[in-house]
Amino acid sequence: VTTALITHQSCFDHVTPEGHPERVARLKSVLEGLGGAEFDGLLREESPAVEMDIVGRVHTAAHIDHILASDQQSERRKVDPDTFMSIGSSKAALHAAGAVVRAVDLVSVGSARNGFCAVRPPGHHAEPDAAMGFCLFNNVAIGAMRARDKWGHTRIAVVDFDVHHGNGTQAAFFDDENAFYGSTHQSPLYPGTGLEPFTGISGNIVNAVLEPGAGSTEFREAYEDCILPGLLEFQPDFLLISAGFDGHVADPLAGLNLSDDDFVWLTRRLMDVANSACSGRLVSVLEGGYDLVALRSASAAHVRALME
Ligand SMILES: [Zn+2]
Repeated sequence: VTTALITHQSCFDHVTPEGHPERVARLKSVLEGLGGAEFDGLLREESPAVEMDIVGRVHTAAHIDHILASDQQSERRKVDPDTFMSIGSSKAALHAAGAVVRAVDLVSVGSARNGFCAVRPPGHHAEPDAAMGFCLFNNVAIGAMRARDKWGHTRIAVVDFDVHHGNGTQAAFFDDENAFYGSTHQSPLYPGTGLEPFTGISGNIVNAVLEPGAGSTEFREAYEDCILPGLLEFQPDFLLISAGFDGHVADPLAGLNLSDDDFVWLTRRLMDVANSACSGRLVSVLEGGYDLVALRSASAAHVRALME
């Protein structure tokens, strides 16, 4: 039983304007990084399109209609100050969310030990009723609902190490005492949320802020002191990761000084929690990461750790 790698060709058909950081080349870079012989053991699958009933567990009908309507439009459209859709974007969004559903299914039946979803558009800024910050549907939150509805994994946790706060995931989980969201993120930085350390209906949202210039020491302390204890106390039945690699020192959108080793360290720590709490059930989902070289290297290091 190995690590699943789920992606879909349509994720290359979500085309953003020239110069936009969330670009097609990102996914090409990630998949190239996972192409070597050391990754031959991955269980590689193409994702199906997500079913709409599960999307509706996270998003409003109005938001879903708004995103799906893009295929009837011939020109690129702007759905948020930073978020664009092209022909093909709604299909990409359906397969990106579908990848997380598929990975959750493979892990739940035991066909894979854990999984990584190499997809775009990313998801953690997508609010229940709005696209935001390059994100159309909240892929990881949709996967969380699949784990609960289909497989009975009631208590679901998402740990988000993207350099930005996952406001959308926090919003989706805020009133759900059986859902845990733990995030490290730089502040000040987009989107400006996530400043309350313990919030949500039952303290089920744990936010740890990192100052610009913070590096390995501060990052690891935030997990050891804050997020991992909260996660262990929560005792998830299924663990998902919002894996953004934009905290890397080379990333152009943020100011943290993380290296591949920090992502590997956290991946191993989260696997330890999953092993102790939920028989290792863990699915990781690509979020940000905008320096192509760093993204390729860090995502490969992350998947290498998942395969250990
Ligand atoms: Zn990010």
